[in-house]
Amino acid sequence: MKYVDEFRDPVLIEQTAAEIRRLAHPDRIYRIMEVCGGHTFAIYRFGLHDLLPANIELVHGPGCPVCVLPMGRIDDGMAIAEDPAVIMAAFGDMMRVPGQMGSPLERKARGMDVRMVYSPLDALKLAGENPDRQVVFFAIGFETTAPSTAFTVLRARALGVRNFTVFSNHVLVMPAIQAILDAPDMRLDGFIGPGHVSAVIGCRPYELVAQDYGKPVVVSGFEPVDLLQSIAMVLRQLNEGRAEVQNQYKRVVPWEGNPAALRALEEVFAVRPEFEWRGLGAIAQSALKLQADFAQWDAETRFAVSGLRVTDPKAAQCGDVLKGALKPRQCQVFGRECTPERPIGALMVSSEGSCAAYYEHVYLRQVAEG
Ligand code: SF4
Repeated sequence: MKYVDEFRDPVLIEQTAAEIRRLAHPDRIYRIMEVCGGHTFAIYRFGLHDLLPANIELVHGPGCPVCVLPMGRIDDGMAIAEDPAVIMAAFGDMMRVPGQMGSPLERKARGMDVRMVYSPLDALKLAGENPDRQVVFFAIGFETTAPSTAFTVLRARALGVRNFTVFSNHVLVMPAIQAILDAPDMRLDGFIGPGHVSAVIGCRPYELVAQDYGKPVVVSGFEPVDLLQSIAMVLRQLNEGRAEVQNQYKRVVPWEGNPAALRALEEVFAVRPEFEWRGLGAIAQSALKLQADFAQWDAETRFAVSGLRVTDPKAAQCGDVLKGALKPRQCQVFGRECTPERPIGALMVSSEGSCAAYYEHVYLRQVAEG
């Protein structure tokens, strides 16, 4: 398959891994954060961590949108869905994220009308099929998914649909990276930049990371050769004392991003002054809400949203894992009270969550091997 097979070529994988071993100076430790949950998934799925020398530490970043959504927003969304006039529409990943009163799936089993959709357009279609109900789309995701929500809102306006609103939980990647860089215990040397987000925003926003913080960023694809090449590119920069933005994923990511998607984002969304991130706390200007012009499609305008703040269960150490202070396995409830079947924390829900990816592709194998 074009653009897949050549990036899974075992010979090229071994050659690139050998290049990484050659580049990694034994007298130093390299801490590299892969920002995107899709990268975390690929690293565990393909066993890439096993190919790296011990002095390269991959730190899993906050790029899984389900994982960074605080419990209070799930409860806020479920509070809207308690209205019998409402149909709540959400992506499959969202359905299993635990809130205080259970996940959307559990609430559905208790009679709430929550439906799984594959796109915001599916939710808009639901609104057309149910003219006597209010359909609320529980929108999550980074700049990757926010454009499709924006295009759907524009379509709702063009069609004059009045029974469709968006509960926006869209977040922005750059403020999260900056919050991590500004943390007092920050120990990162470089970043693997997210591939899908960058297809929308381009590479230019990361120049701040290179120029102001002196950290290399390499925007990467998702196949084994992509990720290994990107790690090698970060190592080369570090060894040569450079801090630049490089684009390994040129076959998908234009340097300037996707202008049509960026225009739709700008037209429909405004940046919130602040938004709560699970594990990272409140981050200024890190999330999107609908512009005032689109208030009638904004669930937070149409429904009372209390803005709940809910702390995670005490035993859950999702915040420490999200910040890279703990590895998934080091969480005290990993694999016991918290599993993909019965998740306590959000990192165990989505396949892109670092705990779920580690559980699925490393932990189960280790258990099977005794
Ligand atoms: S094992 Fe569960 S509770 Fe612990 S960090 Fe992972 S998702 Fe959170």
